[in-house]
Amino acid sequence: MPVTTRQWLLNGHPRGRGIEDSDFKLAETKLAEPGEGEVLLKTLYLGFDPAQKGWMENIADYVAPMAIGDVMRGSGICEIVASNHPKFAVGDLVFGSTGWTEYLVSDGKDLTKVETDLSPTSVLSILGTTGVTAWCGLFKVGRPVSGDTVLVSGAAGATGSIVGQLAKIAGCRVVGIAGGEDKCRWLVEEAGYDAAIDYKAGSVRAQIKQHCPRGVDVIFDNVGGSILNDMLGEIATGARVVICGGISRYETGSLPAGPQNYFNLVFRRGTMAGFIVLDWASEFPAIRRRLEGFVKDGRLTWQEDIQHGFENAPDTLQRLFSGKNRGKQLLKL
Ligand code: NAP
Repeated sequence: MPVTTRQWLLNGHPRGRGIEDSDFKLAETKLAEPGEGEVLLKTLYLGFDPAQKGWMENIADYVAPMAIGDVMRGSGICEIVASNHPKFAVGDLVFGSTGWTEYLVSDGKDLTKVETDLSPTSVLSILGTTGVTAWCGLFKVGRPVSGDTVLVSGAAGATGSIVGQLAKIAGCRVVGIAGGEDKCRWLVEEAGYDAAIDYKAGSVRAQIKQHCPRGVDVIFDNVGGSILNDMLGEIATGARVVICGGISRYETGSLPAGPQNYFNLVFRRGTMAGFIVLDWASEFPAIRRRLEGFVKDGRLTWQEDIQHGFENAPDTLQRLFSGKNRGKQLLKL
């Protein structure tokens, strides 16, 4: 029986502005039956990442461009509901870049089975790209050593909250920057940060000085803009500055002003490096096992913010840009 599915299609490239409702179009289509070596998947959860805006804009050159009419790209957890594939059985749970669609047919090449003792949704959060991004950015680029001061922006977000906890496990002093009292309280009371800075309350630079009196050895930046500039102003000698994301500029078309404090990299012999986590894809299974081990040992916690209803996918993506999300943003279909 051919299946009819709803899909969210790209309907506009949000360049130079925030995402608007009209950038998406809800469509219905009939899927062909799965052929030999194919499976029919039913989407159970979608995962959201600020990078999706960059994909919609086509400014990110590490992924294929998106065309108007494409199914919106995104990660998902799906159940196999029909299988002509030797590797997958009906009832198996899998995850991958499955897109904003209720059902899809796949050849299985980019699907990974959900195999964890944690909740199935963990494969989109702590054990997903989010967790491995935190790991790779911190350990491979930031290279913290015990006793370092690590400063994280976007600290209460999905990635940032894991970064801080991993840095604590590595024996560092960890300070986070986040928006609002509630998030700052959660960072210190639940995620084990040593201190939190509310960027919406007072001078960020002064608060960094207060909480990092000996300077910052590792910066993990998810935000960019003036917050990056303030962090660069307080680096210690030999600092490593990790550029993971730049959400403060994702909403605007203009390029952010250059960080005026960048010359501290010269005075303090620092380095600044960006990364794309996919470059370490072959190591993801091993990193996931380490992350799962830390969770089971009680040393790592994480938050998931689960919204409901396929029709709410565009609004759910928007939550990342207004800071409404508490931890990894997910949607249950
Ligand atoms: P997230 O941090 O859970 O959600 C985004 C958060 O950004 C919001 O909750 C909000 O928190 C903050 N924010 C939004 N607008 C802001 C602004 N104008 N100024 C300051 N903060 C703002 O998202 P995530 O999935 O963990 O992603 C974090 C970053 O990692 C993103 O930039 C993403 O693109 C990047 N990333 C990079 C890679 C890579 O390979 N390099 C891979 C995955 C993700 P507040 O309430 O605190 O403002």
